[in-house]
Amino acid sequence: MIPLHKPFITGDEIKHIESVLAMNYLSGNGTYTQKCHEYFENQFGYRKCLLTNSCTASIEFAALLANIKEGDEVIIPSFTYVSSVNPFILRGAKIVFIDAHTQNPNLDISQLPHLITKKTRAIVVVHYAGIACPMDEIIKIADLHNLIVIEDAAHSLGATYKKKPLGSFGHLSAFSFHATKNITSGEGGLLIVNDEKLFERADILWEKGTNRNKFIQGIMNKYEWCDVGSSFYPSEITAAFLYAQLLHSKTIQEKRMEAWKYYQRQLNNLTYFEIPKIPEYANHNAHLFYLKAISEEKRNQLLNYLKSNSINAAFHYLALDQSPYWKSSQKIALPNASHWEKHIIRLPLFADITNKELEKIVACVKAFDAYE
Ligand SMILES: *Cc1c(COP(=O)(O)O)cnc(C)c1O
Repeated sequence: MIPLHKPFITGDEIKHIESVLAMNYLSGNGTYTQKCHEYFENQFGYRKCLLTNSCTASIEFAALLANIKEGDEVIIPSFTYVSSVNPFILRGAKIVFIDAHTQNPNLDISQLPHLITKKTRAIVVVHYAGIACPMDEIIKIADLHNLIVIEDAAHSLGATYKKKPLGSFGHLSAFSFHATKNITSGEGGLLIVNDEKLFERADILWEKGTNRNKFIQGIMNKYEWCDVGSSFYPSEITAAFLYAQLLHSKTIQEKRMEAWKYYQRQLNNLTYFEIPKIPEYANHNAHLFYLKAISEEKRNQLLNYLKSNSINAAFHYLALDQSPYWKSSQKIALPNASHWEKHIIRLPLFADITNKELEKIVACVKAFDAYE
């Protein structure tokens, strides 16, 4: 079976983990955590980076930092993963789902003004497949209404909007290093704090509600409780693993891009399936390659056909506004989110996918498309 994804192991992970063992400092916020923070700051120009245990944890952290309270309204795409939403449910917020665009699965900016009320506090932006949302327009609307922008950039490490890295637009941004993402530590994440006003509090929440900086300066007791917080950061073992991956990220991203472009070249002329449309302002990071089928039936038939040829393709998100857990007044289905749910098919994409595997997948897709 050709898998849908496969983590790329660089071979240097063990070396860095051994160095953690040699230092015998295993808990978090040590040398490797600092190395990772510096890498992100130097590579992408992010101002403040804090490693976390997952993108989910990063968004929970962001919801705390944004001070989301009961009754606050938060606008979130329906076509996304549950982790974009749960952190705000946990804070007692009212979720207002926004529909996807017709051209790509990102949120439809034209709907945004209609969903904003006096109670709206924040908007969550998801860059599906590492393809940027129109950030200038989103920030313009957010500024007009004083909204906090949170980027769920789980797919998006290395992708840009108008040449500027994703993750640098929101007041707060969240990345994932889950095993299915381009760069991985098994589980892992990153919170970017771009709003300077939140810097000091971010450090405190990250340190479980204590002020480590003031403790280091000798002006506060380490155990003094000064705010809420949680156990957000990973161990040095995880940070060392991640650091090894970061040092190889150029190679990893190039290999993925090669595979992505091969699919794009080979599959741009099918009868029943369309390749992704990339807006001019976006440079994506080859996080995933999807086709959009002309019908749900064709999509499912191709999925089965590929499976019978030992190729593990997949559909993707189920529109959250229609999920069983969501019992709200928002009863009418968001048409585009439901459309993407039924029409997307993702093809295998990972850094060390071979030419032979790619050729087989492309041949199968073309054969299905021609025969049906
Ligand atoms: C993977 C993913 C997450 C969750 O990431 P974890 O690191 O597993 O918590 C959140 N949002 C989106 C859009 C994702 O794809």
